[in-house]
Amino acid sequence: MALKALDIYKLLPKKNCKECGDPTCLTFAMKLAGGKTDVDLCPYMDDAAKAVLSATTRPPIRLVKLGIGERSFAVGEEFVLYRHEKTFYHPPGIMFKIADTSTPEEILAVTVRVRDESFTRVGTELRFNGIAIENTSGSPEHFARAIETIEKTADLPLVLMASDPLALSAALTFCGTYRPLIHAATPENYKEFCAIAKQHGCPLVIKGKSVIELAQLSKDCTTEGVQDLIMDLSPESFQEFIVRSTTIRQLAITREAPDLGYPVFLDASVMEMQDAAITLGISKYASVIISTPLPSATAQAALTLRQNIYTDPQKPIQMNPGLYRVGNPGKNAPVLMTVNFSLTFFTLQGYLESTRLPCFMLIVDTEGLSVLTAVAAGKLSEVLVRDSIKKFDVENEVSHRKLIIPGYASPLSGRIEEATGWKVMVGPRDAAEIGEFLHEEWKQ
Ligand code: SF4
Repeated sequence: MALKALDIYKLLPKKNCKECGDPTCLTFAMKLAGGKTDVDLCPYMDDAAKAVLSATTRPPIRLVKLGIGERSFAVGEEFVLYRHEKTFYHPPGIMFKIADTSTPEEILAVTVRVRDESFTRVGTELRFNGIAIENTSGSPEHFARAIETIEKTADLPLVLMASDPLALSAALTFCGTYRPLIHAATPENYKEFCAIAKQHGCPLVIKGKSVIELAQLSKDCTTEGVQDLIMDLSPESFQEFIVRSTTIRQLAITREAPDLGYPVFLDASVMEMQDAAITLGISKYASVIISTPLPSATAQAALTLRQNIYTDPQKPIQMNPGLYRVGNPGKNAPVLMTVNFSLTFFTLQGYLESTRLPCFMLIVDTEGLSVLTAVAAGKLSEVLVRDSIKKFDVENEVSHRKLIIPGYASPLSGRIEEATGWKVMVGPRDAAEIGEFLHEEWKQ
């Protein structure tokens, strides 16, 4: 059971020496209780206290990092079974799989695609995460050459999929410092695979045919000195994946089986109906998902689903407040004020673009609340509008002093006029009517 900050504090050395990076032992205890720091940062803790605190304050699912640099990503460190209980923190990495028997041109094409392809949805850039390369040739030279081709083109997180330790070692000479994920240690080969993972500081996938086998294998691998593990459940059907991944998640987050407290790996490319398997993996706790390179429409659907599942349900998606341009607005262009709720922003922006009248959008910070909610909650006020006009230098962008506000903000119109000195025009409640409104009302 999770300990409260005061229970944790009782177990600390109480030196207030700051060596853990926190000003006092109590602050450190509060951070530990929230899972925001690590017991190992206090050098004065005795072994008994450390054992108790490690078992109760570490995230129930280990955080594992893949790759290094800008495109590296972390998986694991999740705390709940259902998203609505809190949130899911680390979206699964989706990696495109290629065989080392592919031609250099084919490998290059997939590498460039993963490196460059992205699409923007509600203000967030969505991308695939890396490449899984499979040693289907059985040859260490082929494997190493394929990886060299990728490494020369992009710094992307990699999964090296091989059953031959020699092939892995050959490949790791090209990417050992990039922390690729090694796939996969089994009960038969785990000692050799652990030695390789340790030597190169890489995370390791363990592959078992049952939950019990995986628990034993994780224990064996940590004894060998490899802590960053990811579990391949090797399911033969969708049902098997759901049962195993849900069982593991439940046992891990309740801390009933700490040996299962690791992220989950799913190779969707070997399952029937790969697209459905990807959807299942995103929804049911997979942290690394392997697929063949997806056609564009499927790729966007997978990334959209991932974004939705891994968006905090308690926080509205927000835009950065500021002055945004639609088209190339001049000094006489209209200024439309609205809130920083992403859906409001993108809906209004879309309708404004279709009017073909260049304009400014003044986006004020209502902490992501919609217009109606922000007005009701007092988050949208004349003071906020006045300060935003100043902060984003709107007065120097236009020569007029007219501000169009959303229809639902009409109760504030008088107060905004008084606070800002700008003439307020109340726009429509429905963004779909903004084109007609501007056509009829905006005259300069
Ligand atoms: S290092 Fe340990 S003793 Fe020192 S302040 Fe942090 S928790 Fe307290």
